[in-house]
Amino acid sequence: MARKALAADPIKERLRALTTDLMLIPGLSGHEGRVRRRLAAELKGLGIESRSDRLGNLIASIAGEVGRPSVMLFAHMDQLGLVVRKIEANGLVRVERLGGVPEKALPSQSVVFCVGERRDVPGVVANKSHHATQPDEKYRVPAYADLYVDAGFASAAEVLVAGIDIGTPVVYEPKVVSLAGGRIAGTSVDDRAGCAVVVEVARSLLRSRRKPTTHLVFSVLEEFNVRGALTAAQTLSPDIAIQLDLMLATDTPDMTARGDMRLGGGPGMSLYSFHGRGTLNGTIPHPALVKLFSDTADKEGIALQRSAQVGVLTDSSYVQLVNAGVAAIDLGFPVRYTHSSLEVCDLADLVGLTHLLVKGIERIDSAFSLDRDDYER
Ligand SMILES: [Zn+2]
Repeated sequence: MARKALAADPIKERLRALTTDLMLIPGLSGHEGRVRRRLAAELKGLGIESRSDRLGNLIASIAGEVGRPSVMLFAHMDQLGLVVRKIEANGLVRVERLGGVPEKALPSQSVVFCVGERRDVPGVVANKSHHATQPDEKYRVPAYADLYVDAGFASAAEVLVAGIDIGTPVVYEPKVVSLAGGRIAGTSVDDRAGCAVVVEVARSLLRSRRKPTTHLVFSVLEEFNVRGALTAAQTLSPDIAIQLDLMLATDTPDMTARGDMRLGGGPGMSLYSFHGRGTLNGTIPHPALVKLFSDTADKEGIALQRSAQVGVLTDSSYVQLVNAGVAAIDLGFPVRYTHSSLEVCDLADLVGLTHLLVKGIERIDSAFSLDRDDYER
C-alpha cells in the first residue's frame, strides 16, 4: 500500500518535466524560435508532424471523425520582457518594456540578453544603492525609463562586441524553484505550463479512438498584442477554440476580494474576461462549451473553478471573431504573482486540466450543437 501511495503519477511527472524545461527557454514575444523548436521536437517524439506559419505559430493536427465539430486547442509560447532601447557610453543599457512587465518588480532582477543560444549575456537590473536612498524614494516605484541594466561592460563598444544592440530581446533570467506540495515557482509559468498541457492532451488524444479533429496551436505574440493565434485560426477555420492560460489565483491576502480561485483547487474556466484598459475586448464563452466542460467535470469528479475578471485578456477574444464566429472558451490553471519572475502554479491543477480537456474533447460528437438557441434560455 505504501508503495502504491509513493508511486508517481506519470502524467504529473511528464507535466513537471516539460513545464520546467519550457520555463528555462527564453522566448520573448516576436522571438519564440527556441521554444517553438523544442515543442516541435516534443511533438515529433509523439509522431506528430508540425508546421509553422509566417507569424511563427506552431501548428499540428490530430485527425478525428468526420462530422464532429473541429477543435483548435491553443496556448501561447511567448513571454513578456524587455527590449534594448539605448546603450550608454559607459556600457550601461536602457530598456523598453514589452508586455505587462510589473515595474515594481524590476529592480534587482537578474536578466538575460538573448543574443543567441549558448551566447546569451547575463545582466542585472540596477537598484539604487540603499545607503543613498532618500526617505521619499523608499516607497516609490521607479519608472522603467529611468532603469538601466548592468551587464558588466565598461563601454558601448564592449556591449556591441558581446552581440547586444538596440532591439535585442531581454528576459528575466530563466529559473525554476520547486516548492512544497507539487508547486512550482519561476519564469513564464504563463504560459509554458499551458503549452505542456497541450502536449499532454495530444498524447492522450492520439490513443483515443473516437474524437473530433483537433488542431494544436502554440501561438506567438500573446503578451505583445494578443492576436498571434488569429492567423492560425484563419487558416484552420475551427468550429471550436479552447485557449489555455493562467487564471488569477485569489487565495492570497492581497487578492481575496477579486474572486474565488484557489491554487491547487483544480483547473479553472473563465465565464467573463474583459481587458478594460483600452482594447475593449474580452471573452464571454460560448454556452455550449460552458455546459460541456461543466458536465465533464461533474461526470469525471474534477473540481472546476470559475473565474470572472476585468483586466484579463487572451487571444481567444480575437479568435472568436474569425469567419462566421468560432465558439470560444478560456480554460486554465490558477497562478499567483502573475507576470513576475516567480509565478507560482500547482502541478495538480495541470493534471486536472489535462483530464478535463481529454474527456471534454472526446465528448464533442456529431450531435454536439453549437446553436445558441439550444442553450440560451
Ligand atoms: Zn498568458
